[in-house]
Amino acid sequence: MQLRNFVGTRGGDYSVSFKDSVLNPNAPYGGLWTLEDLPKFSDNEMQSFVGMSYEDLAKKIFESLGLDIDKNLLHNALALYKKFDDKNTPAPLYKINKNLSIQKLYCGPTRAFKDMALQPFGEIFSAFLKDSSKEYLILVATSGDTGPATLESFANKDKIKVVCLYPEGGTSEIQRLQMTTIAAKNIKVIEIKGDFDDAQNLLKELLKDGQFLQRLTQNNLALSAANSVNFGRIAFQILYHIYASLQSFALHKKKTHIIIPSGNFGNALGAFYAKNMGFPIEKIWIASNANNILTDFIKSGVYDISHRILQKTYSPAMDILTSSNIERVLFFLFGKDRTKELMEDLQKHKKYALNQEELEILQTYFEATYCEDSYCLEKIREYVNAGFIIDPHTACGIKAYEAIIKSDNEAICILCSTAEWTKFAKTLSKALGIESLGGKQSLEVIASKYSLAISPNILGLFDKKEVHTQGMPKENVRESILEWLEGNGE
Ligand SMILES: *Cc1c(COP(=O)(O)O)cnc(C)c1O
Repeated sequence: MQLRNFVGTRGGDYSVSFKDSVLNPNAPYGGLWTLEDLPKFSDNEMQSFVGMSYEDLAKKIFESLGLDIDKNLLHNALALYKKFDDKNTPAPLYKINKNLSIQKLYCGPTRAFKDMALQPFGEIFSAFLKDSSKEYLILVATSGDTGPATLESFANKDKIKVVCLYPEGGTSEIQRLQMTTIAAKNIKVIEIKGDFDDAQNLLKELLKDGQFLQRLTQNNLALSAANSVNFGRIAFQILYHIYASLQSFALHKKKTHIIIPSGNFGNALGAFYAKNMGFPIEKIWIASNANNILTDFIKSGVYDISHRILQKTYSPAMDILTSSNIERVLFFLFGKDRTKELMEDLQKHKKYALNQEELEILQTYFEATYCEDSYCLEKIREYVNAGFIIDPHTACGIKAYEAIIKSDNEAICILCSTAEWTKFAKTLSKALGIESLGGKQSLEVIASKYSLAISPNILGLFDKKEVHTQGMPKENVRESILEWLEGNGE
């Protein structure tokens, strides 16, 4: 097997191994680590992948990507998928009608698509530290799904500490309980007085705070990241798109459109790589909410945040203006020099623009739609009456499906469902015209009205003790983290 190195999206004179890109995700000039090229599969090879187990498929793909993970480790990482709802596949397809299937990417422990990557990622990260003399600190700011999935993955892992910041009142009740009830010594969860932007800005400040970083070094701690700037997460997000496109192709003998509710573009990047490797994907449809910067970008080639204000919507995981992983797409399509130039424009002018030729290339891969909250509620209602319950993020993707079918009523579509409805009981109640009672009851009312099961992981949260109850103003966070790390905190 030939191992591949990772290069910086903005250039730089050195490359790193997969392992080093995972442990230290920052590439030169503020870029991201990325693969320079991708393997391409022939029709015959792809044919031989059909019907393979998820694990065997994963091993083939990882081998061809040249990632330095030994076979046993990859096996152990993928074995975590056995805990998902269907032990044969972590990401099953559910057929809605002759054109549309929904891929359930939320069958893991925290009921959101983040588990697809973070479950195996935690295993790999931790194995990479086996011989490390240092411990690693992972800082997370979350608007709801990343926090629980990261904590679930890293709880009680050796040589890793996780600090998770979430905005007071900024997550759903279930998401909050998923964080506050995890009892593990290596985890600290802090509720911030402020919104998600405050939490994220605070985290960015800490990463630049010389004194803070020095104290970490003194305590033999290195910093890493578990968000989708880390290629270790992206790697696992390629697999389920390959799996779904092959399964769909075997059934329909034609390429599938993939619709992806998008925020930081990590999920969509996985599909982009899968398409580039030759898998039968027609177009990748980016679905957004009212924060429709990705729609603008894909339609016009202009990425402009200079006049935008972040709006809060019912699909909070997509309330993002700076979508990090677009950078890896730019690198792949236009190279490191152009990427550096565009990213510098973004830093300086809060804006960058592709030329006409570049835009046309981008559009051979991507299309985009967005929808407002009212539309999203309407689609939740419509689909539940047709027998399938979707969460507010997935509902945004319906708009894309309708657009595809309007221009080709023979099209085959896979809609990536990124979260289970149970995580957003309040919004679901609103959509379905049910009074939201809060707590367990709000879930039970919906479940009984529509004959749905509530996963034990979610129901069990209400019986657990909330062990992380510390809330504080932003100003106190830095000291509180240091005290905890140095053993004087709780
Ligand atoms: C994280 C998340 C998304 C966005 O995924 P990206 O990879 O950041 O584009 C969409 N929906 C849900 C429910 C999520 O948790």
